[in-house]
Amino acid sequence: MDKFYHSVRLDADKCKGCINCIKRCPTQAIRVRNGKAVITKEFCIDCGECIRICPHHAKLATYDDMDVLGQYEYKVALPAPSLYGQFNHLDDINIVLTALKRLGFDDVFEVSGAAEIVSQLSRAYVKSHKGKWPIISTACPTIVRLIRVRFPNLLEHLLPILAPVDLAAQLAGKKAMEETGLPREKIGIVFLSPCPAKVTARYSPLGISKSEIDAVLAIKEVYPKLLPLMKEVSDCAEELSIAGKIGISWGSSGGEASGLLTDSYLAADGIENVIRVLEDLEDQKFGDLEFIELNACNGGCVGGVLTVENPFVAKVKIKQLRKYMPVACVRLGTKVPRNAYWDTSVQYEPVFKLGESVKESIEMGARVEEILARLPGLDCGSCGAPTCRALAEDVVRGIAREKDCIHIFREYIHRISDEISKLDQE
Ligand code: SF4
Ligand code: SF4
Repeated sequence: MDKFYHSVRLDADKCKGCINCIKRCPTQAIRVRNGKAVITKEFCIDCGECIRICPHHAKLATYDDMDVLGQYEYKVALPAPSLYGQFNHLDDINIVLTALKRLGFDDVFEVSGAAEIVSQLSRAYVKSHKGKWPIISTACPTIVRLIRVRFPNLLEHLLPILAPVDLAAQLAGKKAMEETGLPREKIGIVFLSPCPAKVTARYSPLGISKSEIDAVLAIKEVYPKLLPLMKEVSDCAEELSIAGKIGISWGSSGGEASGLLTDSYLAADGIENVIRVLEDLEDQKFGDLEFIELNACNGGCVGGVLTVENPFVAKVKIKQLRKYMPVACVRLGTKVPRNAYWDTSVQYEPVFKLGESVKESIEMGARVEEILARLPGLDCGSCGAPTCRALAEDVVRGIAREKDCIHIFREYIHRISDEISKLDQE
């Protein structure tokens, strides 16, 4: 399995080399070379910011299409709670779930149901691990990837409990085998995802050795197919929902933390805010906070690039939907699965280091500073790197030249032409 597999890709034919994305990428993973964007796969954390910002739709997320259902005898849909925030005037989640069955699924298993079990386990874990406070949530795969490459000192704070979607996949697979008698390989567990990071997590999971999810569809692809089916079933929806307020609240920022039933938490969303919080956490600015919930997208999962609704509107819709729901899951009860914890640890990936050894890194760092002193410090992006420092690092790594800077290049041309005219005069 490729530990740097990514759902986020470039469509080179559409890329105009406009440099919008290089400025937006939180890990400086993108360069424009020869007029086209290039993603350094070791740096990318699948946040989807470049998809959001690209005016030419040249950045895209890869995921499965509906045809994947044909590969399985029995198909189970795992709807993310953010799916419910996409629909206008939805007052009963069972309408969405019944429509999913009409769409071609044999059963549905709500991720929000599993989320309530994760909330229950997290409450116990946080209380019994005071030495690791604040515990950092791990439901957003982009956050785990970011910490893995940029904040190694914070790895020990990660909550080692399965993300709700992984627990849902495990429980749904088991339930389907028990109910149908089919072997696991004939059952397709299909997640309806709000973001590319969760597609990446299916193929290259962190914290667990293998994902139980068989395929991932994008919410934005399923949404238009669901609308007419929801109309058809609005008067005859089956009772399929297994979650309460706590579970569906995970769909937007602050929902996971509120399920911990403590006031000692911080919830931040949006990748730039998240980075600020992690930097402050490294500087030990948070005293005795018990828990930190972080979501890479604005508004939480409702802000994922594979959704259709404005994240703030979707958040309000989820809030309204919650109003008449029970507090917690009514169907799963207190059954706690044995495999609800990570089975592998997340290791630091020092992808940003300059040299192979400390000595080499120090020497290369000194060369970066020398080059940086010669660059104009405008961070204009014309060289294809997001900042002058990033260009200096690329030069030291041997993947760019100082003359890629148009200002340095212009000075160079002036110098040459001065020398030529001097020679000419002589
Ligand atoms: S934003 Fe990036 S990917 Fe999109 S056209 Fe500009 S350089 Fe290419
Ligand atoms: S997905 Fe995020 S980290 Fe990856 S290249 Fe795009 S902006 Fe950068």
